Amino acid sequence: MKCKPCDGTGKSKCADCNGDGLGYGHGKCMACNGSGLIECTQCDATGKVSLFRWMNLKKAE
Ligand SMILES: [Zn+2]
Ligand SMILES: [Zn+2]
Repeated sequence: MKCKPCDGTGKSKCADCNGDGLGYGHGKCMACNGSGLIECTQCDATGKVSLFRWMNLKKAE
C-alpha cells in the first residue's frame, strides 16, 4: 500500500522548518540538515506500508 502521509515518496516535510530547510536565524535547519525533507517515519522512508500497518493506521484515524 502506498504510504499516505508522504504520498509514496518516502519523505515528509520537515516540521521544524516547515519545509524550507532554514533554521531560526542559524542557517540550515538541524532537523532535516537543510533539505526541508525528513524521512517518513510511517513507512521508514520506503514510501510503502504493509497492509497490516495500513489497516492499523486506518484504525487510528
Ligand atoms: Zn527542517
Ligand atoms: Zn511514508
